[in-house]
Amino acid sequence: MSDTTQRVAVVTGASRGIGRAVALRLADPKRANRHVVLSARSEGPLNDLKAVIEAAGGKATVLAVDVGDAKALQTAVDSVAERLGRLDILVNNAGITKDGLALRMSDEDWDLVLDTNLKSAFVATRAAARHMMRGRFGRIVNISSTSGVVGNAGQANYAAAKAGMIGLTKTIARELGAKGITCNALAPGFITTDMTDNLPQNIKDDLQKMIAVRRLGTPEDIAAAVEYLTSEESGFLTGQCLVVDGGMTMA
Ligand code: NDP
Repeated sequence: MSDTTQRVAVVTGASRGIGRAVALRLADPKRANRHVVLSARSEGPLNDLKAVIEAAGGKATVLAVDVGDAKALQTAVDSVAERLGRLDILVNNAGITKDGLALRMSDEDWDLVLDTNLKSAFVATRAAARHMMRGRFGRIVNISSTSGVVGNAGQANYAAAKAGMIGLTKTIARELGAKGITCNALAPGFITTDMTDNLPQNIKDDLQKMIAVRRLGTPEDIAAAVEYLTSEESGFLTGQCLVVDGGMTMA
Protein backbone atom coordinates (compact mmCIF):
# COMPACT_ATOMS: atom_id res chain seq x y z
CA MET A 1 0.00 0.00 0.00
CA SER A 2 1.32 3.48 -0.80
CA ASP A 3 2.14 5.95 1.99
CA THR A 4 -0.29 8.84 1.48
CA THR A 5 1.42 11.12 4.01
CA GLN A 6 4.50 11.57 1.83
CA ARG A 7 4.31 14.60 -0.44
CA VAL A 8 4.16 13.82 -4.16
CA ALA A 9 6.27 15.81 -6.64
CA VAL A 10 5.83 15.62 -10.41
CA VAL A 11 8.97 16.50 -12.37
CA THR A 12 8.64 16.78 -16.16
CA GLY A 13 11.67 16.22 -18.34
CA ALA A 14 13.16 13.96 -15.66
CA SER A 15 14.96 11.58 -18.04
CA ARG A 16 18.20 13.57 -18.13
CA GLY A 17 19.91 16.89 -17.42
CA ILE A 18 18.32 19.34 -15.01
CA GLY A 19 15.10 17.35 -14.52
CA ARG A 20 17.00 14.21 -13.57
CA ALA A 21 19.07 16.12 -10.98
CA VAL A 22 15.91 17.74 -9.59
CA ALA A 23 14.18 14.36 -9.30
CA LEU A 24 17.18 12.80 -7.52
CA ARG A 25 17.40 15.71 -5.10
CA LEU A 26 13.68 15.79 -4.27
CA ALA A 27 13.51 12.01 -3.82
CA ASP A 28 16.57 11.83 -1.52
CA PRO A 29 15.24 10.41 1.78
CA LYS A 30 17.89 12.38 3.71
CA ARG A 31 16.77 15.63 2.07
CA ALA A 32 13.29 16.54 0.76
CA ASN A 33 12.08 12.91 0.82
CA ARG A 34 9.32 13.36 -1.76
CA HIS A 35 7.61 10.59 -3.70
CA VAL A 36 8.77 11.73 -7.12
CA VAL A 37 6.77 11.19 -10.31
CA LEU A 38 9.33 10.92 -13.11
CA SER A 39 7.99 12.16 -16.42
CA ALA A 40 9.36 12.28 -20.00
CA ARG A 41 8.37 10.77 -23.33
CA SER A 42 9.80 7.27 -23.05
CA GLU A 43 9.84 4.93 -20.08
CA GLY A 44 13.34 3.45 -20.50
CA PRO A 45 15.48 6.17 -18.87
CA LEU A 46 12.76 6.84 -16.30
CA ASN A 47 12.73 3.20 -15.19
CA ASP A 48 16.53 3.38 -14.81
CA LEU A 49 16.21 6.53 -12.69
CA LYS A 50 13.44 4.96 -10.60
CA ALA A 51 15.80 2.06 -9.83
CA VAL A 52 18.54 4.48 -8.74
CA ILE A 53 16.09 6.36 -6.47
CA GLU A 54 14.70 3.18 -4.95
CA ALA A 55 18.20 1.76 -4.35
CA ALA A 56 18.88 4.89 -2.26
CA GLY A 57 15.69 4.29 -0.23
CA GLY A 58 13.50 6.80 -2.06
CA LYS A 59 10.13 6.46 -3.79
CA ALA A 60 9.41 7.07 -7.47
CA THR A 61 6.68 6.48 -10.04
CA VAL A 62 7.16 6.57 -13.81
CA LEU A 63 4.79 8.63 -15.96
CA ALA A 64 5.54 8.57 -19.69
CA VAL A 65 3.80 11.39 -21.55
CA ASP A 66 4.55 13.84 -24.35
CA VAL A 67 3.97 17.25 -22.75
CA GLY A 68 3.23 18.67 -26.22
CA ASP A 69 0.01 16.61 -26.23
CA ALA A 70 -2.21 18.71 -23.97
CA LYS A 71 -4.98 16.13 -23.59
CA ALA A 72 -2.56 13.33 -22.75
CA LEU A 73 -0.75 15.57 -20.26
CA GLN A 74 -3.97 16.58 -18.49
CA THR A 75 -5.04 12.92 -18.25
CA ALA A 76 -1.58 11.80 -17.06
CA VAL A 77 -1.43 14.39 -14.25
CA ASP A 78 -4.98 13.56 -13.12
CA SER A 79 -4.41 9.82 -13.20
CA VAL A 80 -1.16 9.91 -11.23
CA ALA A 81 -2.68 12.21 -8.59
CA GLU A 82 -5.66 9.84 -8.22
CA ARG A 83 -3.41 6.79 -8.09
CA LEU A 84 -1.04 8.23 -5.45
CA GLY A 85 -3.84 9.95 -3.53
CA ARG A 86 -2.33 13.43 -3.69
CA LEU A 87 -0.18 15.89 -5.67
CA ASP A 88 1.78 18.60 -3.85
CA ILE A 89 4.62 19.75 -6.06
CA LEU A 90 4.98 20.36 -9.80
CA VAL A 91 8.24 21.18 -11.54
CA ASN A 92 7.56 22.19 -15.17
CA ASN A 93 11.00 21.45 -16.56
CA ALA A 94 10.52 19.65 -19.91
CA GLY A 95 11.79 21.83 -22.72
CA ILE A 96 13.34 21.95 -26.16
CA THR A 97 15.12 24.44 -28.40
CA LYS A 98 14.68 24.97 -32.14
CA ASP A 99 17.03 27.87 -32.68
CA GLY A 100 17.26 30.12 -35.72
CA LEU A 101 17.17 33.79 -36.54
CA ALA A 102 13.65 35.22 -36.26
CA LEU A 103 13.43 36.27 -39.89
CA ARG A 104 14.08 32.69 -41.02
CA MET A 105 12.07 30.91 -38.32
CA SER A 106 9.20 28.73 -39.55
CA ASP A 107 5.73 28.76 -37.99
CA GLU A 108 6.25 25.06 -37.19
CA ASP A 109 9.40 25.73 -35.13
CA TRP A 110 7.65 28.58 -33.33
CA ASP A 111 4.58 26.46 -32.49
CA LEU A 112 6.58 23.40 -31.45
CA VAL A 113 8.70 25.35 -28.96
CA LEU A 114 5.75 27.34 -27.59
CA ASP A 115 3.62 24.20 -27.17
CA THR A 116 6.37 22.07 -25.62
CA ASN A 117 7.82 24.71 -23.30
CA LEU A 118 4.95 27.08 -22.43
CA LYS A 119 1.55 25.55 -23.13
CA SER A 120 2.64 22.37 -21.35
CA ALA A 121 3.42 24.37 -18.19
CA PHE A 122 -0.05 25.92 -18.29
CA VAL A 123 -1.82 22.59 -18.90
CA ALA A 124 0.14 20.75 -16.18
CA THR A 125 -0.40 23.60 -13.73
CA ARG A 126 -4.14 23.71 -14.40
CA ALA A 127 -4.40 19.96 -13.85
CA ALA A 128 -2.10 19.81 -10.80
CA ALA A 129 -3.51 22.86 -9.00
CA ARG A 130 -6.92 21.20 -8.62
CA HIS A 131 -5.29 18.38 -6.64
CA MET A 132 -3.06 20.77 -4.65
CA MET A 133 -6.13 22.79 -3.61
CA ARG A 134 -7.57 19.72 -1.89
CA GLY A 135 -4.55 19.65 0.43
CA ARG A 136 -4.37 23.46 0.68
CA PHE A 137 -0.67 23.17 -0.14
CA GLY A 138 1.22 23.42 -3.39
CA ARG A 139 4.59 24.33 -4.81
CA ILE A 140 4.89 25.00 -8.54
CA VAL A 141 8.25 25.76 -10.13
CA ASN A 142 8.51 26.74 -13.78
CA ILE A 143 11.95 26.24 -15.28
CA SER A 144 12.36 29.34 -17.43
CA SER A 145 15.70 30.65 -18.76
CA THR A 146 17.86 33.74 -18.78
CA SER A 147 16.87 33.85 -22.50
CA GLY A 148 13.36 34.64 -21.31
CA VAL A 149 14.62 37.38 -18.98
CA VAL A 150 17.09 39.23 -21.20
CA GLY A 151 16.43 37.71 -24.68
CA ASN A 152 18.90 35.82 -26.85
CA ALA A 153 19.64 36.22 -30.56
CA GLY A 154 18.58 33.09 -32.43
CA GLN A 155 16.00 32.10 -29.84
CA ALA A 156 12.84 34.13 -30.59
CA ASN A 157 10.59 31.12 -30.02
CA TYR A 158 12.44 29.85 -26.95
CA ALA A 159 12.84 33.30 -25.34
CA ALA A 160 9.14 34.06 -25.92
CA ALA A 161 8.15 30.74 -24.32
CA LYS A 162 10.47 31.26 -21.36
CA ALA A 163 9.30 34.86 -20.84
CA GLY A 164 5.73 33.56 -21.08
CA MET A 165 6.47 31.17 -18.25
CA ILE A 166 7.39 34.13 -16.05
CA GLY A 167 4.04 35.84 -16.77
CA LEU A 168 2.24 32.56 -16.14
CA THR A 169 4.13 32.19 -12.85
CA LYS A 170 3.13 35.61 -11.54
CA THR A 171 -0.50 35.10 -12.52
CA ILE A 172 -0.77 31.66 -10.93
CA ALA A 173 0.94 33.04 -7.80
CA ARG A 174 -1.75 35.74 -7.57
CA GLU A 175 -4.65 33.38 -8.31
CA LEU A 176 -3.65 30.55 -5.98
CA GLY A 177 -1.68 32.16 -3.15
CA ALA A 178 -4.71 32.19 -0.85
CA LYS A 179 -5.02 28.43 -1.31
CA GLY A 180 -1.56 27.74 0.10
CA ILE A 181 -0.06 27.28 -3.36
CA THR A 182 3.11 29.13 -4.34
CA CYS A 183 4.37 29.47 -7.90
CA ASN A 184 7.84 30.62 -8.83
CA ALA A 185 9.98 30.62 -11.94
CA LEU A 186 13.62 29.65 -11.97
CA ALA A 187 15.77 30.98 -14.80
CA PRO A 188 18.97 28.99 -15.26
CA GLY A 189 21.92 30.46 -17.15
CA PHE A 190 24.25 28.09 -19.02
CA ILE A 191 24.06 24.64 -17.48
CA THR A 192 26.07 21.64 -18.70
CA THR A 193 23.47 19.24 -20.13
CA ASP A 194 22.67 17.65 -23.52
CA MET A 195 21.00 20.97 -24.42
CA THR A 196 24.31 22.89 -24.21
CA ASP A 197 26.72 20.03 -25.05
CA ASN A 198 26.73 20.83 -28.76
CA LEU A 199 27.94 24.41 -28.27
CA PRO A 200 31.43 24.80 -29.78
CA GLN A 201 34.25 24.95 -27.17
CA ASN A 202 35.21 28.53 -28.17
CA ILE A 203 31.64 29.68 -27.42
CA LYS A 204 31.76 27.89 -24.05
CA ASP A 205 35.11 29.60 -23.28
CA ASP A 206 33.65 33.01 -24.19
CA LEU A 207 30.57 32.33 -22.08
CA GLN A 208 32.69 31.45 -19.10
CA LYS A 209 34.29 34.90 -19.23
CA MET A 210 30.81 36.48 -18.97
CA ILE A 211 29.91 34.47 -15.86
CA ALA A 212 30.95 36.07 -12.55
CA VAL A 213 31.79 32.73 -10.90
CA ARG A 214 33.77 31.73 -14.06
CA ARG A 215 32.15 28.37 -14.72
CA LEU A 216 29.08 26.92 -16.40
CA GLY A 217 26.41 25.69 -14.00
CA THR A 218 25.64 22.07 -13.18
CA PRO A 219 22.20 20.44 -13.02
CA GLU A 220 22.81 20.11 -9.27
CA ASP A 221 23.15 23.92 -8.96
CA ILE A 222 19.58 24.15 -10.26
CA ALA A 223 18.29 21.20 -8.24
CA ALA A 224 19.49 22.83 -5.00
CA ALA A 225 17.43 25.95 -5.75
CA VAL A 226 14.38 23.87 -6.74
CA GLU A 227 14.64 21.99 -3.44
CA TYR A 228 14.25 25.28 -1.58
CA LEU A 229 11.45 26.62 -3.79
CA THR A 230 9.47 23.41 -3.19
CA SER A 231 10.21 23.15 0.53
CA GLU A 232 7.75 23.57 3.39
CA GLU A 233 9.54 26.72 4.60
CA SER A 234 9.38 28.63 1.29
CA GLY A 235 5.67 29.46 1.73
CA PHE A 236 6.20 33.24 1.80
CA LEU A 237 8.12 33.24 -1.49
CA THR A 238 5.86 33.40 -4.53
CA GLY A 239 5.54 35.07 -7.93
CA GLN A 240 9.31 35.44 -8.26
CA CYS A 241 11.77 34.57 -10.97
CA LEU A 242 14.96 33.32 -9.37
CA VAL A 243 17.88 33.69 -11.79
CA VAL A 244 20.50 31.00 -11.20
CA ASP A 245 23.24 31.88 -13.67
CA GLY A 246 26.49 32.31 -11.75
CA GLY A 247 26.10 36.08 -11.99
CA MET A 248 25.99 36.20 -15.79
CA THR A 249 23.06 38.59 -16.22
CA MET A 250 22.43 39.89 -12.68
CA ALA A 251 18.91 40.53 -14.04
P1 NDP B 1 17.79 18.29 -21.81
O1 NDP B 1 17.71 18.44 -23.28
O2 NDP B 1 19.00 17.67 -21.20
O3 NDP B 1 16.49 17.50 -21.27
C1 NDP B 1 15.22 17.90 -21.68
C2 NDP B 1 14.19 17.06 -20.96
O4 NDP B 1 12.89 17.44 -21.44
C3 NDP B 1 14.35 15.59 -21.21
O5 NDP B 1 14.06 14.88 -20.03
C4 NDP B 1 13.31 15.31 -22.27
O6 NDP B 1 12.82 13.98 -22.16
C5 NDP B 1 12.21 16.28 -21.87
N1 NDP B 1 11.33 16.59 -23.00
C6 NDP B 1 11.63 17.25 -24.14
N2 NDP B 1 10.57 17.32 -24.93
C7 NDP B 1 9.56 16.67 -24.29
C8 NDP B 1 8.21 16.39 -24.61
N3 NDP B 1 7.64 16.78 -25.77
N4 NDP B 1 7.46 15.70 -23.71
C9 NDP B 1 8.01 15.30 -22.55
N5 NDP B 1 9.27 15.54 -22.17
C10 NDP B 1 10.05 16.21 -23.05
O7 NDP B 1 17.53 19.75 -21.24
P2 NDP B 1 18.05 20.49 -19.91
O8 NDP B 1 18.11 19.55 -18.79
O9 NDP B 1 19.24 21.26 -20.29
O10 NDP B 1 16.87 21.53 -19.73
C11 NDP B 1 15.81 21.35 -18.83
C12 NDP B 1 15.01 22.63 -18.77
O11 NDP B 1 15.87 23.70 -18.38
C13 NDP B 1 14.42 23.03 -20.12
O12 NDP B 1 13.15 23.60 -19.95
C14 NDP B 1 15.39 24.09 -20.61
O13 NDP B 1 14.79 24.99 -21.50
C15 NDP B 1 15.79 24.75 -19.30
N6 NDP B 1 17.06 25.46 -19.36
C16 NDP B 1 18.23 24.80 -19.63
C17 NDP B 1 19.41 25.51 -19.69
C18 NDP B 1 20.72 24.85 -19.95
O14 NDP B 1 21.73 25.58 -20.07
N7 NDP B 1 20.82 23.55 -20.06
C19 NDP B 1 19.44 26.96 -19.48
C20 NDP B 1 18.16 27.54 -19.20
C21 NDP B 1 17.02 26.81 -19.14
P3 NDP B 1 12.70 12.92 -23.35
O15 NDP B 1 13.51 13.44 -24.50
O16 NDP B 1 13.27 11.68 -22.75
O17 NDP B 1 11.24 12.86 -23.63
